[in-house]
Amino acid sequence: LSDRGRELLDGLNPQQRDAVLHTGSPLLIVAGAGSGKTAVLTRRIAFLLAERDVTPGQILAITFTNKAAAEMRERVIDLVGPRAAYMWVSTFHSTCVRILRAQSGLLGNRNSNFSIYDADDSRRLLGMVVRDLDLDPKKFSPRGVGTQISNFKNELKDPDDAAAEAEADGQTDLAAGTIAQIYAEYQRRLAAANAFDFDDLIGETVSLLQRHPNVAEYYRRRFRHVLIDEYQDTNHAQYVLVRELVGDETSQSGVDPSELCVVGDADQSIYAFRGATIRNIEEFERDYPNAETILLEQNYRSTQTILSAANAVISRNANRREKKLWTDSGDGDLIVGYVADSDRDEAAFIAKEIEELVDYSIGGSASHTYADLAVFYRTNTGSRSLEEVFVRHGIPYKVVGGTKFYERKEVRDIVAYLRVVANPDDSVSLRRILNTPRRGIGDRAEACVAVHAENLGISFYQALVEATENRVPLLNTRAVKQITLFVDLIEGLRSDFLMAFGAVGGESVDDAVADATTEGADVGELVDAIVDRSGYRAELEASNDPQDAARMDNLNELIAVARDFSVEAAQRDDDDLDDADEATDDAEVVGDGEPEPGSLAAFLEKVALVADADQVPDEGEGVVTMMTLHTAKGLEFPVVFVTGWEDGHFPHMRALGDPAELSEERRLAYVGITRARQKLYLTRAMSRASWGQPVSNPESRFLQEVPQHLIDWRRTEPKRGMREFGSRGGSFGFGSAGGSSNDSGFSSGMRGRSSYSSDPTRGRNKNVHYEIGDRMNHPQYGMGKAVAKEGSGVTERITFDFGGNVGRVTLMTVGGLPGEK
Ligand code: ATP
Ligand code: MG
Repeated sequence: LSDRGRELLDGLNPQQRDAVLHTGSPLLIVAGAGSGKTAVLTRRIAFLLAERDVTPGQILAITFTNKAAAEMRERVIDLVGPRAAYMWVSTFHSTCVRILRAQSGLLGNRNSNFSIYDADDSRRLLGMVVRDLDLDPKKFSPRGVGTQISNFKNELKDPDDAAAEAEADGQTDLAAGTIAQIYAEYQRRLAAANAFDFDDLIGETVSLLQRHPNVAEYYRRRFRHVLIDEYQDTNHAQYVLVRELVGDETSQSGVDPSELCVVGDADQSIYAFRGATIRNIEEFERDYPNAETILLEQNYRSTQTILSAANAVISRNANRREKKLWTDSGDGDLIVGYVADSDRDEAAFIAKEIEELVDYSIGGSASHTYADLAVFYRTNTGSRSLEEVFVRHGIPYKVVGGTKFYERKEVRDIVAYLRVVANPDDSVSLRRILNTPRRGIGDRAEACVAVHAENLGISFYQALVEATENRVPLLNTRAVKQITLFVDLIEGLRSDFLMAFGAVGGESVDDAVADATTEGADVGELVDAIVDRSGYRAELEASNDPQDAARMDNLNELIAVARDFSVEAAQRDDDDLDDADEATDDAEVVGDGEPEPGSLAAFLEKVALVADADQVPDEGEGVVTMMTLHTAKGLEFPVVFVTGWEDGHFPHMRALGDPAELSEERRLAYVGITRARQKLYLTRAMSRASWGQPVSNPESRFLQEVPQHLIDWRRTEPKRGMREFGSRGGSFGFGSAGGSSNDSGFSSGMRGRSSYSSDPTRGRNKNVHYEIGDRMNHPQYGMGKAVAKEGSGVTERITFDFGGNVGRVTLMTVGGLPGEK
């Protein structure tokens, strides 16, 4: 070993070392949380580059998120220097986009500027398909059908397979045949739109590699090392993709299989709902007969107390491989337990703890910064009470996921323009913006164009062009005029921003899109031009609605994001490296599939593939991180709060009667607990706002599975009756736990009368009208007073002040008993 090689093994335990050094056969590293799986994968890559004559171009590493990919790349560059930048480190989806783009010439029905449809785009397209097939959209909802199609794709089943399955059990399920039919039409339209949905990215890559053995062989020759993190969350399609990329002894090509190294933990498999199957990890040894398995047992992340809690919970799952995690870092602090009255009380407790943890004033413990802290919840709505309370306490935080920038309507609209500029065949995006902002092209005109396109077998955009030449039947002159202006708008954008790069006419526009970069016309300018020329800016600026001002802010933000994107790309170009050791001279293969940095294609790809987990703040941001348990996978924080330990909430209601789902929820608990390094808080609330009603759930069975001697209970469930009178005020350290303003005017005597004996079903199915100042006796919250009202009819929301620990709660009044919004 060289000095460098020895250094790279430094500090590793013997099993980790074996994992880094292993050569010659597929390697499976299975180990519990925090045992250094990701760290070992990173080290192994560095070692391959430093010691084993492997070039960066021969490495393909797959991580679960883009952020994890960026971190792994940075880490390897730290270890072995900048040449490592030529590795492919990315998610499954990004990897596949690159392969599909590079091989677009072989796809037949797509070109390299294909659009990537997210769930919302797919649903729009499914909506059109269902409508055009004259099906009942209630019976075949885009969401429901979308899930089924996604499941087919995760299993690599095409519409023919779906139809065959439907026929096989045709007696029992007539809808299945229809779904297969929708699936077929949906695929046809995706191809016509030069678009792939998310699942296609994987499935179409598999199909490409299977149809073109020489291409598969090219990638096998190229990627001699394939390394995969979080292997327990791969689905069947991803599993087959890996097999195709790695190859096996029996392949005809004469290329030895690549070295495959996967790491994972079956106990952390939490994406079954996206088709992930633990099978892939459990049967690795059978799939790869000469595979070696290495177990890691030492945990370097958490205290023994935290590990003991995690082990106790996960050991209740049946049919798992027993693992014993241990650490030599000592017991550490006890886990803190807290039973709150309500979700707001829970939030208030957390806020107060956070203030103490980061208190630098005299007497404060000052042991942590905000960035050390994370709060997890079971579902996205879990952030709401926390946010309200954190804002009031002035605690800086960032919610990961939830309301996403790129899902805002105005942002999606402008992104749709960008997609149409890049790919005019993209009919879903095109129809989205045809009359947005309003330009007098109504539904009727759109339908005429759609029918014309269908009749002639041309794209919607081509049909629009025909309309400008008066060749679309039944269009009135006004519509023709507006369509002409719209086509001119798009053509103008294309010629100003794409043709400038040397493309003239049809074929070469594609290359121009991929290359449309800086040099005077960056993506930021294009976005700016779209906001302007489309009339979007004028419309928003002319409005008095404060919402429209906020929309304009979002579009300015989008312009800024696009500008930064171009600037960053230009900088990266400047520090570019010599790419001498890349092995890419196969005649079959055109380019690398990576769009020109800073190009429109690169920007659209980034926007399409951005995921919740990529927004996890960096330490430098100095904020508390709030996210769902699912998003927390793979991360670690010195202090972790896991909220909502209630049966029916976590484990989720849906899982209570289903052993498989319950096991999955328990794995989620295991993931949550094992994110904590030093300090762990487990909290639950006796009443929680959920789906329009405050609900009371008993203690989570998972919380009961944590050995009680590991928990320091700051507050347990008060005895009945105590809650009304005793739980407010001094005994738990703070008065109005919900932080609610105390302007309700309720005397404690009033609260005293608001007993819990009222029938919770009373008032249901009755229309109840409340005005400001009205009082109500709520079965969960007791007596409250209406203090604010918005909307009317089905959208009516009334905010009641219940005083005390509950504070203000916004309720819907439709259908009788007001339920929570
Ligand atoms: P998860 O299952 O949650 O993804 P993991 O097995 O991938 O966890 P890592 O995140 O790689 O675990 O490592 C957990 C922590 O332990 C990290 O902070 C890492 O730097 C540290 N670590 C790993 N191996 C060692 C070691 N040999 N010595 C010291 N620290 C280590
Ligand atoms: Mg990891």
